[in-house]
Formats: sequence, structure tokens, C-alpha cells
Amino acid sequence: MPALILWFVLGGLCAAFLAFILSHFTRGTLRALGIGCLGGYVALFAALVLVPDADRARFVGPLAWCFSTQGTSWKALLAGYGAFALAVAWFVPRYQALGLGPQQGTLRHLVFPFRAMALTFDDGPSPAWTPKVLELLERHKVRATFFMVGESVERYPELVKAVAAARHTIGCHSYGHRPLPLLRTADLKSDLDRADKAFEAVLGARPNYFRPPWGFFNRPVLEELRSRGYLTVLWTRSSQDWRNPGVDRIVDLATRNPALGEIVLLHDAENFPRREGDPGRQQTLDALDRLIPLMERQGFQFKTLDEMVQAWLS
Ligand SMILES: [Zn+2]
Repeated sequence: MPALILWFVLGGLCAAFLAFILSHFTRGTLRALGIGCLGGYVALFAALVLVPDADRARFVGPLAWCFSTQGTSWKALLAGYGAFALAVAWFVPRYQALGLGPQQGTLRHLVFPFRAMALTFDDGPSPAWTPKVLELLERHKVRATFFMVGESVERYPELVKAVAAARHTIGCHSYGHRPLPLLRTADLKSDLDRADKAFEAVLGARPNYFRPPWGFFNRPVLEELRSRGYLTVLWTRSSQDWRNPGVDRIVDLATRNPALGEIVLLHDAENFPRREGDPGRQQTLDALDRLIPLMERQGFQFKTLDEMVQAWLS
């Protein structure tokens, strides 16, 4: 077996193992992917430097020129791979803040002359967590925005009505919480149609705001949403509560150095895809209990998206 195969297999296994360990501990698949890429880069570098050209030529055959250490091609290969790994490492924290897709024509920041913040809750309604979030918001006299999944809207109409009755803003978070850019056009349209129907059946109208699942969208998805009259809303701060990083961390991510008009991403349901034994959103509740008074002491008011948009337009 040529030594190169060994190197590539070992390098690949190292990268995969690293990605597995990290995704296990952080539950951040994208971060794990980025670090896995860096691991793969190290393995590739080791293979190119340590494996003699002759062995490599035997393995890659006609592609030997590209892996040859004689010329500059291997340096270009390493540089290319390195640039890719760095791009992933740069992109991951950005994605967590902004969502994945063209930002033009989406709403993710509103600049106000006053201190306002919008709390937004994705993935509900959930019989286990939405009532607790509602009770907490009621206790703090705060109104927020809920991006609901059509499937759960159909299942738990009474929860949707309770959210609406408490005068929170309701937004749509698709019907089946699937990656919208990966759907065929017909599937995308039918997902959105079903979502519209679910909301109309419970509320009499569909929401004005839409947040794509995982903040994952592209130009065609955005165009489709716009043609239906939706305003696509992302976030300016991800609390990362979905991965239960600890109450301190959630509070810190949601509140550190706030600008005017931040839109904070939180969740009031178990993670998608739904799994048995999901610990749920207790950390979110505990964090809210701390962050709401903390922000109010700094003079911030909590607004629904409707209130934010109206104040912004006027
Ligand atoms: Zn979601």
C-alpha cells in the first residue's frame, strides 16, 4: 500500500474524528466542519512533505504533476486548501450572527434613536416550553416575537392563540423546518403554501414576517418570500441557546455591548430535528430571567418586531 494512501486515510480519519468530537461537545456542526478542514489541511501538508514523490506518483498517476513537490503546484494546492479552511473559519462565527444567504432585502437591524431590543423565539410552539416562556414574559411585562413552525401551528393551535392573545408578534418559520435552498421549487412553494394555510386557519391571516430555518436561504427563496409579501427577518445576535451553552453564556451573547435595535435569536422549543431526550429550553428561561432586568437597568425597552418596524417607519 503506497504510503500516500495511508497518509490520506489517516489524515481523513483525524479530520473526521476531530469533527465528530467537536460536534459532540459544541453541537456546532459548522464549527466542527471548519476545524475538521483545518485538521485535514495539516494532514495534507504532512502527506505532501513526508511522502516521497515517487510513492505519490504511483498513487495519483496522471495527477502526479499537481501533487509534485518539484514545482510550485503543491504549494498552490496547500495555499488553496489553506485559504478554504481559513474562509470556513472566518465564515462560521459570521454565520452564527447573520444567517446564511444574501443579506440585501432582509431585515436584521434597525437603528433607533432610543434603546430598544427585540427578543425573537424560533421553532415553537412547543407544549413543553412555549407556555413557560409566555408566563416569564408576562411576569416581566415584556412582549416579543415568535417565529413558529407551520406543522406545530397545526398541532397546537391553542398555543398559537395564547401567544397572539398576549399581543406578541407572530412570524412564520416555514412549515416543516427544512433547508429551503435545497428544496425543489415545487417543494418550496408547497411548504410555504402549507405554512400559510396553517396560520390562516388559526389566526385568520398569515404573518408579515418570515425567518428561514437555520437562517439558511438564497436569492430564489428570498424572491419567493417577497412575492408572497413576507419580510425576511434574521437576527443581529444569536444567543446560541439551542446548544445549551450555559446560562451565563446565553446572557453574555445576548447582551454584551448592545447596539440600538438589536434582534436577539432565542428558541422556545426543542431543537430540530426533534429528538428523544432533548433537554429543552430551561437555560433559555433562566437566561431570560436575568437578561431582561439587566437590559432594563441599562435603559433598554423590549419591543415586538411590529413595534420596531412601526417606530422605524414613522
Ligand atoms: Zn429554527
